[in-house]
Amino acid sequence: IILLIITIPRLISTVGKTEQWISSLPTELSKTNNNISGKLITDPKALEEASNDYGNLVHDSPAAVFRPTTVNDIATLIKLSFNSSVPFRIAARGQGHSTRGQAMARDGVVVDMKGLRERGDREVVKNNIRMKKANDGIKVFGDSKVGYYVDVGGEQLWIDVLYETLEYGLAPVSWTDYLYLTVGGTLSNAGISGQTFRYGPQISNVHQLDVVTGKGEFVTCSKQKNSELFHGVLGGLGQFGIITRARIALEAAPRRVKWIRLLYSDFEVFTKDQESLILSKNSKLDYLEGIVLMHQGPINNWRSSFFPLTDHQRILSLVTQHRVLYCLEIAKYYDHHYENTLNKEIQTLVQGLNYIPGFYYEKNVSFVEFLNRVRSGELKLQSQGLWDVPHPWLNMFIPKSRIMDFNSGVFNNIIQKRNITTGPVLVYPMNRNKWDNKMSATIPDDEDEIFYAVGFLHSSGFDNWKAFDAQNIEILKYCNDAEIKYKLYLPHYSTQEEWRNHFGPKKWKSFVQRKYKFDPRMILSPGQRIFNNN
Ligand code: FAD
Repeated sequence: IILLIITIPRLISTVGKTEQWISSLPTELSKTNNNISGKLITDPKALEEASNDYGNLVHDSPAAVFRPTTVNDIATLIKLSFNSSVPFRIAARGQGHSTRGQAMARDGVVVDMKGLRERGDREVVKNNIRMKKANDGIKVFGDSKVGYYVDVGGEQLWIDVLYETLEYGLAPVSWTDYLYLTVGGTLSNAGISGQTFRYGPQISNVHQLDVVTGKGEFVTCSKQKNSELFHGVLGGLGQFGIITRARIALEAAPRRVKWIRLLYSDFEVFTKDQESLILSKNSKLDYLEGIVLMHQGPINNWRSSFFPLTDHQRILSLVTQHRVLYCLEIAKYYDHHYENTLNKEIQTLVQGLNYIPGFYYEKNVSFVEFLNRVRSGELKLQSQGLWDVPHPWLNMFIPKSRIMDFNSGVFNNIIQKRNITTGPVLVYPMNRNKWDNKMSATIPDDEDEIFYAVGFLHSSGFDNWKAFDAQNIEILKYCNDAEIKYKLYLPHYSTQEEWRNHFGPKKWKSFVQRKYKFDPRMILSPGQRIFNNN
């Protein structure tokens, strides 16, 4: 801690000098054996792209963008910074789908991981036959000890991992709702979705990582080997190294998915059903989430259009009557020949649930259609110019013991009073025992076996995002006043005090120790504002 107090002001005082250093960077890079200076880009378009993200709220311009084509390029760049008298900051940018500038590097260098992605997925012409070359960045293996797994470049998109592994009839088990995110980006947070209650977050399904640390060293790590780096990097917000490869567990992929939504008006009944389903040994659900439907919002949204048009009016009048409805969303995977058995299982399962009679909806879709369910909504919004608007999101983990208080204080009060909510609001439980506390990802300290993920996935206009931010602040204030011991997911803070509170004393101590060990010159992911708070 003392070291930190001494070092941070020194680092801050070097910012002006960093700009000078950046102007000499191409020359320095050209002196390296790899001669990678051509991969450093300073054209205004590239800089502008790197100073924006999905949130569209923070805009920090880097001095340059770096487009590596090999992992060695990344190591060379980091080493240059590490060995220089004035280190420059470096941020890996996956898809830039953060919402608060986390993948930005003001006056530093943004490593555009897309450069590496282009090493695969090319068309090649051989003997006049056009073939799609296998993606070099995604390779499937089998091993009698660990079973099937895939080695994936940190720059790869989950959608490509899905398609490539399906070629072998296999797939990862833990996902995010949206698949156009990079493996490195989601593993730096946790990677959660409706599968998390059963399989844990994506970070719980990684066997091994290749990482280029903040010293420019290339390290392979796992639970057994270099475990401190392994645990640090998973959920580590990009602070300890750039993930260049992840080894991810695979299982046999199903072909079809029975996807069900059930409506509730009573939050207690809704959460009781959610909890009993995730704890049940019999239900064997593959996916469980929950959505809050507000009287002011549309009942279908970009996250998925599900309810049949003919039922919209019926659902809308129910929402108007209750002001808030809760929608349980579950899915079970299957293969064609088991459909009859599955239907019987579902019938039994649903009979035990206390949803509003008559408000049962079901869809039968392919596995890809289910996992990639958000894409069509995205494309629609893109075509309407509504995808690149500000996104003042708030994502939280709430202890189960306080979820009823959260409902009355937030869903039934703050949200109703302000009446501005647009976009999906998610609430679903997960099991603590599927998370590994040695990893950097942080969940509530509560004793409860279950905690809830709550996500306010707002879209706003350029002129009114502050009203959404004010709502987010009010929600956090309510939780603080009511002593609800929440944790932020996809966290963002502006002071180190807040980061310390976020991690808690024990985890913060090991986070800082790991930072000193793996990125002692505070080079990596400055946009998280943990160690470089300016
Ligand atoms: P970026 O925004 O580019 O980077 C995020 C952070 O990770 C930065 O600090 C960056 O420097 C660092 N980083 C990037 N690549 C690497 C790397 N290879 N090695 C080390 N550090 C790296 N999250 C969920 O968990 N579940 C969801 O269902 C979900 N749905 C989403 C839906 C949408 C539409 C959007 C926009 C986001 C969603 N997210 C979800 C959040 C998402 O997982 C995070 O924002 C994630 O960081 C985005 O990945 P990215 O590739 O865009 O990362």
